[in-house]
Amino acid sequence: MMETKLLIGGRFVDAIGGDTIPCVDPSTGETFAAIPRGTAADVDRAVEAARAALDGDWGALTAAERGRLMLKLSALILRNADGLAVLESRDVGKPLAQAKADVTACARYFEFYGGAADKVHGDTIPYLNGYTVMTLREPHGVTAHIIPWNYPLQIIGRSVGAALAMGNACVVKPGEDASLTTLYLSRLAHEAGFPAGALNIVSGYGEEAGAALAAHPGINHVSFTGSQEVGVLVQQAAAVNIVPVTLELGGKSPQVVFADADLDQALTFVVRASVQNAGQTCSAGSRVLIERPIYDRFTAMIAERFQALKVGPALDDHDVGPLINARQRDRVAGMVAAAKDGGFPVLAEGRIVDGAPKGGFYVAPVLFGDVKPGCHIEQNEVFGPALAAIPFDGEAEAVRIANGTPFGLVAGVWTRDGGRQLRMAKKLHAGQVFVNNYGAGGGVELPFGGMKKSGFNREKGFEALYGFSAVKTVAIKHD
Ligand code: NAD
Repeated sequence: MMETKLLIGGRFVDAIGGDTIPCVDPSTGETFAAIPRGTAADVDRAVEAARAALDGDWGALTAAERGRLMLKLSALILRNADGLAVLESRDVGKPLAQAKADVTACARYFEFYGGAADKVHGDTIPYLNGYTVMTLREPHGVTAHIIPWNYPLQIIGRSVGAALAMGNACVVKPGEDASLTTLYLSRLAHEAGFPAGALNIVSGYGEEAGAALAAHPGINHVSFTGSQEVGVLVQQAAAVNIVPVTLELGGKSPQVVFADADLDQALTFVVRASVQNAGQTCSAGSRVLIERPIYDRFTAMIAERFQALKVGPALDDHDVGPLINARQRDRVAGMVAAAKDGGFPVLAEGRIVDGAPKGGFYVAPVLFGDVKPGCHIEQNEVFGPALAAIPFDGEAEAVRIANGTPFGLVAGVWTRDGGRQLRMAKKLHAGQVFVNNYGAGGGVELPFGGMKKSGFNREKGFEALYGFSAVKTVAIKHD
């Protein structure tokens, strides 16, 4: 199934302007579909429909009823898993197995938040004699969800799932390069029986539909996942309307490997975290800090794995797929070339398979050695399959290098020393710290989000339910 209409107020419609955006298959460079180019006028309609839903059938549902609808949607996602995965793989260029994992995660978000919808309670607060005081958790109202192209299904699941569970009505603007599974999802939500306007989807360009949504005076909360530059614009727009924002931005996440670590175990995680989704992952472990006594040995182990990586068409399910578009490919290739010119040794490169379509946006994974802390490739998000290996001496230096970028999204620590595990977990500036494992994509239950320039506020887990609701205190005087 390929849904290519907007969902507004329970109806599937074209953009008012009638224009479309081509969908390009990153594996071939060929256009294979088109999505509506929604603009400010479509956003107006969607926000209006969401408001009407809050004042109407959606707002009238009990929390348990909302939860049941979400569980139905979760089941429908799983029933449509194959179709969704193939579409995601084609649209985003994700190897099929990774697209399947995204579908499962999306279903799991709706399951988790569907189950949680009626389990978020307020408090009663001891106060003066003759008073009863309670807190109510209420939806913000209309929530805006601006989604990037790299993990459309997962990010919609986590963000919209939590918002709907708390009774908000959502307007979603997916990434213009990857909207097809979101539009598919809208058909499934309709089939699940969500009241008209509870969930609205407006595809379109960021500067048009995205900017209009972020600045719309009718929204009550904005959840933005994407780049730092756009995050600043979204926050500025939200400031004008004085509405809360969740910013999920980029990262330059370190994996810190100490000499006493189980290197075989670390190896699989270090490689996967750097090349999963061709490195186009906010939480990519794009720096590996290695304690000097094992530096040569562990970099050799990573290099062996990198050399074996095969890059090719997404539906053929190689280790690594193409990047999302020509612009990203050129940007990543430029950063890699600059790092090579900078003199950092290339310890290994993956291989683009023979016969990969010439029009595809492929970049071979690359492992750089002896990368100097503070240099460009060590400080900036590549958003491609490039891993920087950095030697360090001792715990204090590891912390300094790990914390030495503007970002603070995720960190990994590999050591058998229990005391060091705890010290590192406390000292690292990151919204999530993984010890002897790594993986922010999974773990629907685990609060996720950034420190520093990686953003603020949290999605995932119960924490997101608090973020998508406002506390109202009710104080009753009764003698
Ligand atoms: P992007 O900022 O270019 O786009 C994100 C979304 O914002 C898209 O839907 C886009 O259309 C929209 N947009 C663009 N301009 C806009 C504007 N002026 N006003 C409102 N909306 C606008 O980001 P991207 O290239 O799609 O995604 C890559 C970035 O996202 C990376 O930096 C990555 O680290 C980050 N990211 C973060 C997380 C996280 O959870 N922290 C997850 C995934 C991606």
